[in-house]
Amino acid sequence: MSRVLIIGAGGVGRVVVFKCVKNRDVFPHIMLASRTKSKCDIIADDAQKAFGGERIHTAGVDADNVDEMVNLIRAFKPDLVLNVALPYQDLPIMDACLATGVDYMDTANYEPKDEAKFEYSWQWAYHDRYKDAGIMALLGCGFDPGVTSIFTAYAAKHYFDEIHYLDIVDCNAGDHGKAFATNFNPEINIREITQKGKFYENGEWKEVEPHSVMKELNYPDIGPKKSYLIYHEELESLVKNFPTIKRARFWMTFGDEYLTHLRVIQNIGMDRIDPVNYKGTEVIPLEFLKYVLPDPGSLGENYSGETSIGCRIKGIKDGKERTYYIWNNCKHQDAFNETGAQGVSFTTGVPAMIGAKMIITGQWKGNGVFNVEEFDPDPFMAELPKHGLPWHESFDIDLEL
Ligand code: NDP
Repeated sequence: MSRVLIIGAGGVGRVVVFKCVKNRDVFPHIMLASRTKSKCDIIADDAQKAFGGERIHTAGVDADNVDEMVNLIRAFKPDLVLNVALPYQDLPIMDACLATGVDYMDTANYEPKDEAKFEYSWQWAYHDRYKDAGIMALLGCGFDPGVTSIFTAYAAKHYFDEIHYLDIVDCNAGDHGKAFATNFNPEINIREITQKGKFYENGEWKEVEPHSVMKELNYPDIGPKKSYLIYHEELESLVKNFPTIKRARFWMTFGDEYLTHLRVIQNIGMDRIDPVNYKGTEVIPLEFLKYVLPDPGSLGENYSGETSIGCRIKGIKDGKERTYYIWNNCKHQDAFNETGAQGVSFTTGVPAMIGAKMIITGQWKGNGVFNVEEFDPDPFMAELPKHGLPWHESFDIDLEL
């Protein structure tokens, strides 16, 4: 009888809980723990109202504190800790899993608080210790990273002898009616998109100024959207795990209004992550900004439109060049009606639940630290449409890139 401990009661945590409770045959014993216990209780009550059955367990925990995490793990005895708190908590939670011999997974790679830099090196460094302890860590099992990496693995397994060009395209054509809001944690989101753009070409990483490379791309059922080259973490593991890749890029859509707000935030220093002294109190401007921007969890009710995220791939099969596009579209209102969360939380939480299912049912297993594309994509791909994320594919088309 499996036991899963979910850490983080935000938008993604809500979706993970709803989906795990809906699949009680795989997840009979669930605990949700987060910094603020009352947020866990609201989600637990809502899930019980939606599906009935036994209420899930809840607890308050500071996941930055390894001892607190170890005590919680020892008390609940989970088979898996599913981390959907913030990237800052990845390493302390990994340490606690190591100390207690429990499998670990997350949806975003570790970032140090004092530097807006995200890379896998810190987490990959746990590989030998996890291997020796006979446990596994599954990194980056949301949508991007996550499904985009599994889409790539699926393409490599079934349709290509060699992948040469990979473009991950992420469009949010939703409208939440606010002048400016971020779709997930504002602090993490703004740190991510204000960085320099970075892509991989012929064995080297190349940098461009933020939002300086733009292409108008057409998204299925949506149409043309301005798409900007940005750096995204799955590029790092994909070029390592698929060494035939000559070029890998990531594109994300932003509206003009969004970019204008972002520029103002940067120009006035509200994206700073170093402390400033305000009337004797140390305040980090970007952390403070989170408290005045709309809560991403509150956007769902009036969110219209949809997301479209996929991979556009060029490579060779049987000596011939071929192109391939695989994608999912997700409507914000459908996500909200089912879980009370908007589409970005939904598209992250559903793959996290499926990744947990892969581990708990033993379909994905190993000792050490792994990225999702290192496992067989087929059982995961079969689960996606069953849980609300159908995918589609097109062959030998103009990829526009
Ligand atoms: P939220 O900010 O809505 O939720 C984060 C939750 O973590 C909050 O409940 C917060 O508690 C809790 N938390 C923060 N610090 C601690 C701590 N020290 N100890 C315990 N709990 C803590 O974020 P989201 O739900 O939007 O995102 C969750 C994760 O998903 C993030 O890591 C994000 O980067 C990732 N993500 C991944 C995507 C993908 O496709 N791979 C896409 C979108 C998000 P409190 O409420 O008390 O502040």
